[in-house]
Amino acid sequence: MDRNSSTPTETKSVAFYTLGCKLNFAETSTLKHHFKGQSFPILPFEKKSDVYVINTCSVTQDANRDCRKVVRRALRQNPDAYIVVTGCYAQLEPDEIASIEGVDLVVGAKEKFDIMKLAGNFEKCDQTIVHRSDVNEAVDFHHAFSSSDRTRAFLKVQDGCDYKCSFCTIPLARGKSRSPSIAQILENAQQVIENGYREIVLTGVNVGDFGNRTDETLFDLLRQLDRLPGLDRIRISSIEPNLLTDEIIDFVADSHTVQPHFHIPLQSGSDEMLKLMKRRYRTDLYRKRVERILNRMPHACIGVDVITGHPGETEKRFQTTMEFLQALPVGYLHVFSYSERPNTTALDIGGDISKQVRKHRTHKLRRISEHKRFDFDSSFLGDIRPVLIEQEMADGRMPGWSDNYIRVSIPYDANLVNKVVMCRLDDRNPGDPVKGHIKTNYNSTPAGEAVKSSREMLRFFKKNGKPAKIKVINTIEQN
Ligand code: SF4
Repeated sequence: MDRNSSTPTETKSVAFYTLGCKLNFAETSTLKHHFKGQSFPILPFEKKSDVYVINTCSVTQDANRDCRKVVRRALRQNPDAYIVVTGCYAQLEPDEIASIEGVDLVVGAKEKFDIMKLAGNFEKCDQTIVHRSDVNEAVDFHHAFSSSDRTRAFLKVQDGCDYKCSFCTIPLARGKSRSPSIAQILENAQQVIENGYREIVLTGVNVGDFGNRTDETLFDLLRQLDRLPGLDRIRISSIEPNLLTDEIIDFVADSHTVQPHFHIPLQSGSDEMLKLMKRRYRTDLYRKRVERILNRMPHACIGVDVITGHPGETEKRFQTTMEFLQALPVGYLHVFSYSERPNTTALDIGGDISKQVRKHRTHKLRRISEHKRFDFDSSFLGDIRPVLIEQEMADGRMPGWSDNYIRVSIPYDANLVNKVVMCRLDDRNPGDPVKGHIKTNYNSTPAGEAVKSSREMLRFFKKNGKPAKIKVINTIEQN
């Protein structure tokens, strides 16, 4: 080993645990890669390992409790293990983490990718070591991508955020908005394709802010990725409404690779609340974004982030939010209860909402979301949609996501793993994936144009609206 001269010759094993978002998962993958490169065997977290690396999140109030729990789990597996804690929570509360019994090394945002160097020989010592710089020094961009299966890869294209939303600690934990060049992302995307992935999900803290310090934009990035041979699907993980331009919407509508699925944070349906939250748009703009998307892509799925119980959310303002959301033709909501975070401006607003009321409001919005999901999925029953099939199996069926983000399951067939197939959506129960079956060998559109591949078929769908209008001939049906 060449880590440094004091490194012992015996090989140490390492296990990882990730809390939080897809970006954190992507970064844990990069950390794993670093350790692998230095010949550390990587073990599952449930195994007895010499080193445990815990990548934390700061989004909720439970960050401290969650982090303690994971440290305890690691020490139960091996009381002598060397414990490293990094991630957003480590950047925000390094002393709190250092006080957790058994933690050896705390590593902040700037130092996250230097763990190997900072830990030396990974030998436990009496005192916890903390390496954490001011967040303004976290200016480098570290490339990362990860995947939960062999079909979709989460590719980091942006980090940090320059916004100052009242409730959010991410800018304090991750620093200023930054992103690499398009050329570098294309290189990473190429690697992802070579590794066999069919879909790339563009991931970041504020993806729409891509290129804000260069003369490139997210629109430029999408255009270039769209031309990459061998890539079937691109998805944007999430985009702020004020950064979702007409140009991007129109491009997605005409692209056969960028999927008709938008996740757009709203946070509140009350303009007064949006102002308090320091969001950079109002409901009118949000509604217009949704309308434009659905005008161009009637089949698109739109997901919405909402926070309940932010200070100042009176009953009337919450009602306004409910009414706004009920009327909005979207596919689903991601609802979170507000939680107090140190050093955020929301703490000074006043008009605090009790935890019980927050919970109750969250429950109400989640019920609305369930109905929206059910209605959205049901509106496609009988239609044919392209689905990327994953490898798990449950009850003789295998799942996948449609282009417009409907969870579909079809009868198991090992040959279909990691393939985009045309499925007819047959039936559904609330909470379960839509049951579908494959219809293959499309060789003609109603206009008689020959189509050779699913890509061409998709292009045809995009031009002609809902695929239900397409008459499929010469089909081979799955049993
Ligand atoms: S846009 Fe607002 S909520 Fe999102 S990361 Fe930036 S500050 Fe946080």
